[in-house]
Amino acid sequence: MIILSVNAGSSSLKFTGFEMPSEDVLISGIFERIGIDGSFYTIKLNGEKTKKTVDLSDHKVAFEILIKELVDNKIVSSLDEIKGVGHRIVQGGSYFSKTEIATDDVVDKIDELSSLAPLHNPAAIVGINAAKAVMPNALQTVVFDTAFHQTMKEEEFMYAVPYAWYKEYKIRKYGAHGTSHKYVSQRMNEILGRNDTKLITCHIGNGASISAVKNGECVDTSMGLTPNAGLIMGTRCGDMDATVVTYAMEKTGMSPKEMDNVLNKQSGLLGISGVSGDSRDIEEGIKSGNERCILAQNMYVKRIVEYIAKYYVLLGGCDAIIFTAGVGENSAMTRKQVLDKLSILGVKIDDEANNVRGVEQKITADDSKIPAYIIPTNEELMIAKDTYSLILQG
Ligand code: ADP
Repeated sequence: MIILSVNAGSSSLKFTGFEMPSEDVLISGIFERIGIDGSFYTIKLNGEKTKKTVDLSDHKVAFEILIKELVDNKIVSSLDEIKGVGHRIVQGGSYFSKTEIATDDVVDKIDELSSLAPLHNPAAIVGINAAKAVMPNALQTVVFDTAFHQTMKEEEFMYAVPYAWYKEYKIRKYGAHGTSHKYVSQRMNEILGRNDTKLITCHIGNGASISAVKNGECVDTSMGLTPNAGLIMGTRCGDMDATVVTYAMEKTGMSPKEMDNVLNKQSGLLGISGVSGDSRDIEEGIKSGNERCILAQNMYVKRIVEYIAKYYVLLGGCDAIIFTAGVGENSAMTRKQVLDKLSILGVKIDDEANNVRGVEQKITADDSKIPAYIIPTNEELMIAKDTYSLILQG
């Protein structure tokens, strides 16, 4: 059967079509500038990428074109071969701890949570409604970035602010990247051949988060109410004294919205280096001796190490450290700097094994007390797998 994994943004729609249960990717691509002049889509089929300019007035039109591509390319002979559509949802609040069928009640709750993810949840609902209209016979499911983290205990997810804020405004830690942390921790358990494991999963991309995962369940994670918490990221500041915000607002006269923009889009590696939020540019800067790039990278690595150390203690040990996402999968330099700083825990990098990009592999020496692995993430597949199991459950 065919399952589509989709990620709808306000003006975009990313998709991957899987044959299940073989997990073969049949088609993937993205529709861009939906509802805006100059819309187009890029599609990857049989290893070949093509870009087509079309008028995309809304997400429904995008799904219709996708179906036409599937039929024209003989991936399906009729619409009914698409049995499921899994939608990525950024914020599931405390309501959702697993993938659900997108019933009206579920969609209402996603809508209710929009204030916690104003850019993402409303866009996802547009995607769900469009997919339902175009593929009424497919099972529509919703896969939450926050669901994997719902196993966190109160003492992990509460903030030490007035308790009423939690009750009244739902202010607590929800985490993010849950689908990725779940995918790589499941894969790690497959590699290790057991499920009773203590894992530290490092999803280091432009956005970045680390989770402590015990026996397949999340114990703690570094992102918070929003993805701004925890690690230093490409353009996000991560953890800091909260008073920096109020103090800087008084000094600069910025509004909450302006401050939010600075903390999310102008901070992190970009803010410190003044060069870029992209790790590749920081690495280039370091090579040419740029002091602020060096400072940014040192702070970036230090924060990752601090979280790993903290989670090592929280878990009472660690069976494996996993690196994934853009930087985690591709930056040998960042992985090496992190692992070298963990030598006190008996971690020993294998420099040759580490000198790779985007492949699944162990990167520590055989006598390293904790093994570290690169496991390329695959959130799309995780979404398709969850959707597939809901279909099997009938
Ligand atoms: P997102 O959070 O947007 O999903 P990704 O996981 O795709 O991010 O990661 C994108 C980031 O990965 C880029 O901004 C860049 O910093 C980093 N990256 C990609 N390739 C490399 C590389 N070869 N070396 C270092 N960093 C890389």
